[in-house]
Amino acid sequence: MSLHVPIETMAALPSLSRPSTAMDYSTDSLRFHLPKPNYLPHIPDFDEPGIVKEYVRPLDRASDENYAKYYAKCRRTAEETGITRPRGYKVSFHCNPEMEKHHFGNAHPMKPWRLTLSKSLIYSYGMSFAMDTYVSRAATYEELAMFHASDYLDYLATVPPEAEPRDVDGSAGELIFNLGGSDCPLFEGLFNYCSMSAGTSLDAAKKVCAGQSDIAIAWGGGLHHAKKSEASGFCYINDIVVAILQLLRCFPRVLYIDIDVHHGDGVEEAFFSSDRVMTVSLHKYEPTNFFPGTGALDDNGPKSDLNPGAHHTINVPLQDGITDGQYEFLFNDVIGRCVEKFRPSVIALQCGADSLAGDRLGRFNLQVQGHGACVAFCKRTGIPMVLFGGGGYTPRNVARAWTYETSIAINCQDRISPVIPPHTPWRSQFRQESLFPTLEEVLGDPRMNKNTDKRLREIVQHVTEQLRFVEAAPSVQFQVIPPNLGPIRDEVEERLWEERQERDEDLRRERETAVGTEGEM
Ligand SMILES: [Zn+2]
Repeated sequence: MSLHVPIETMAALPSLSRPSTAMDYSTDSLRFHLPKPNYLPHIPDFDEPGIVKEYVRPLDRASDENYAKYYAKCRRTAEETGITRPRGYKVSFHCNPEMEKHHFGNAHPMKPWRLTLSKSLIYSYGMSFAMDTYVSRAATYEELAMFHASDYLDYLATVPPEAEPRDVDGSAGELIFNLGGSDCPLFEGLFNYCSMSAGTSLDAAKKVCAGQSDIAIAWGGGLHHAKKSEASGFCYINDIVVAILQLLRCFPRVLYIDIDVHHGDGVEEAFFSSDRVMTVSLHKYEPTNFFPGTGALDDNGPKSDLNPGAHHTINVPLQDGITDGQYEFLFNDVIGRCVEKFRPSVIALQCGADSLAGDRLGRFNLQVQGHGACVAFCKRTGIPMVLFGGGGYTPRNVARAWTYETSIAINCQDRISPVIPPHTPWRSQFRQESLFPTLEEVLGDPRMNKNTDKRLREIVQHVTEQLRFVEAAPSVQFQVIPPNLGPIRDEVEERLWEERQERDEDLRRERETAVGTEGEM
């Protein structure tokens, strides 16, 4: 099986994006997209031998005794480093261990196992003691249908798995909904995997909606390329769009920020015509050579000012080799301005880790600290936030980044040891003991930085001009009311009612157990 799709097969891939906006206002949203270069590189990348570690099988389930020992070590680590629940706000962590067992195929760069590695590092640091941790249920068909077309969902739910991608021998044949090629293979349990990913993101969004979390973490989500009726770039279901639709039921304005190395095209397109969602994507941009080829600086939403979505799309196109310092400057400046002008009531931050140095597909020189600085900046705004995962194809570095970012969420980033805890499962997979390996350790020679400071200033200038058109905190924001607003409010009410009942029940039980004790007789 080869990862590398011959260039001829590109013709068989859809070259026009389908009109799949969630909130269409006019034909403005039927945008022309350049033909997409395939997500997987066409030319073998010989200059980075050994960066990718092959898939590692999860260990067998630990015995109760071993698990108890591991748990005790995690707890001790938390106590020794002073990891406690953050003061004044709540963080929740949403995952579905069943999702992590899925397998795209040995040669495919997407390894759901990276979620297991991330979670095990997070838990080994003892961070689970500082958060509410939830095992999410899978999203239902109806929940996925809040965004996705039913013919697409029906197909996705029923198509049988295929052992080999259809384009493996250079002849893709017909790809229905862009499924079954090297990028989006039809693997065993695909629909379950997608539903579980969307379930974690939706769960996280619901916790924030209900005011039960201020920061909700869903590292299993973040699959930003999926379209309404089309799989794309390893993404089948756009869990982010589903989660944002949920957030829109409770919050007037959502700021979506995407720091994956690839353009967040699926989310941008879904909310293209909406002024209730501003999308900001920082990504490598090379129209003909890097997936998905969209996201130019002057792509700022619908061209017509009559469309409410005009100027609500911000794109920050970057070149190879950007450093922590440059990225932080850009991120803080651009996001600072967006927050000031748009006044979001909630932030949805996609933390794709393929923007890290040494990623199998990425091209930047970002380190764990620089990637995490974006999460820290958003957190400092004090706005409720959902953190999604995303890309990330060198599992050990994905795990480092998402662990560090979890520590930022719970405000213990300054207390955790920079040395990976000795009891961390699969510790040898991390190669270096440090949570923060140097660029030289990760890459050998860092990539050449093709981003000039002059270009970065031009980007800031352009974004500033765009934002002049954005009304500061528009007061009337409910022109587009997501479907079924009533039932969701009812659902929240119902949840609160249940909680009250539970509390009453606890009280009742306390009273009952007290009956017959000395004092009362
Ligand atoms: Zn990506």
